[in-house]
Amino acid sequence: MLAKSRASVTPSRRPKSLNGRAPTPVGVLGATGTVGQRFIQLLENHPWFYVDEVMASDQSAGKPYAEAVGARWKLTTRIPEGVARLKVRGPGEKLRSPVLFSALDASVAGELEEQYARAGHLVSSNSRNHRLDPLVPLVIPEVNRDHIELLERQKFSNGPNGRGGILTNPNCSAIVLVMALAPLHRAFGVESVIVTTFQATSGAGYPGVPSLDILGNVVPYIPGEEPKMESETNKILGTLGARGIESAGIAVSASCHRVPVLDGHLMAVSVKLKRKASLKQMLAALTGFRPLDRMALPSAPAEPIHVREEDDRPQPRLDVDRSSGMGVTLGRLRPCPVLDWKFDALGHNTIRGAAGAAILNAELLAHAGRI
Ligand code: NAP
Repeated sequence: MLAKSRASVTPSRRPKSLNGRAPTPVGVLGATGTVGQRFIQLLENHPWFYVDEVMASDQSAGKPYAEAVGARWKLTTRIPEGVARLKVRGPGEKLRSPVLFSALDASVAGELEEQYARAGHLVSSNSRNHRLDPLVPLVIPEVNRDHIELLERQKFSNGPNGRGGILTNPNCSAIVLVMALAPLHRAFGVESVIVTTFQATSGAGYPGVPSLDILGNVVPYIPGEEPKMESETNKILGTLGARGIESAGIAVSASCHRVPVLDGHLMAVSVKLKRKASLKQMLAALTGFRPLDRMALPSAPAEPIHVREEDDRPQPRLDVDRSSGMGVTLGRLRPCPVLDWKFDALGHNTIRGAAGAAILNAELLAHAGRI
């Protein structure tokens, strides 16, 4: 088990304790990017964590956060005052927060996250680099929270101070798919899946896809996305054993498309089940999926999967903010003449698919006494 943090905290920035629990100072790596900004937004007024440090590339290092982000701040809320003034740290600079949220560009995330884990930080990462490492948990708290046990087997937690580690959340499309599949897999067993995605432009970071490539257009290729959906699904739905995670063995075929939508990844899914299920049984499994009900994690949606009955839902513009962006909306559940059942699913890519997911993972660790 990871020992409790002993990190030093600047007293003036420490918010008041809520429910008798002193909030934990956290750092955000890659804080100036699309996902980094979401972390800053979602952590404002968080009851358990507060942002004490921010880190980005050399071009941002040394500047106050607000100046470093400048016109790249694309959220509708303002930069929180306390964070706006924080001096941005450079890559690899020593940090003191016990928990670091990582939204680093994948070109640097691998090495920097390891460096901070080795230095004793618990890194809750949103980047792809470590997701498939055998000893790194790839977690959706509603689906496979037992996998956090892998943290105990990581080389970082056996280091000199015995408390560092890396925990990851899935790719922004994989998380929506797996949230929808998990209750079905639990109830009936999922044998195979065909999924076609329609992914928002914010998923490509900033400035992302050039406007001339995406306006009035659909791009039928997102580098690396299809293999991620196929492999991550099997790790998350896999079983934790003595030798790590045993793959769920589900055949997944993904086709990923970039569409001119701001936020929200929509996907059309067909599934083949191991055991036959009626529509009533499918709906009961999906709507009854409330695995975190008793844990009172601040970012956990009360209704993780929201099932709509209208013919034309879910739609990104209308449904993406469901449960503050942490819910997955599912609709158009109907028989599939090729596999067994088909439906559409939608989730917010920078909240449920990125920053919100990493924060929920850290809340899970705090609940388990590991922070
Ligand atoms: P982004 O907007 O391009 O932001 C990248 C961040 O990384 C910026 O803060 C940037 O700092 C920092 N960075 C770049 N090079 C660096 C270096 N050499 N050293 C330290 N920091 C460096 O990207 P994003 O969309 O937020 O994505 C961040 C990560 O999350 C990626 O790994 C991505 O694959 C993953 N992800 C994104 C989404 C999404 O919906 N966007 C969803 C799931 C996962 P500067 O501003 O100083 O350059």
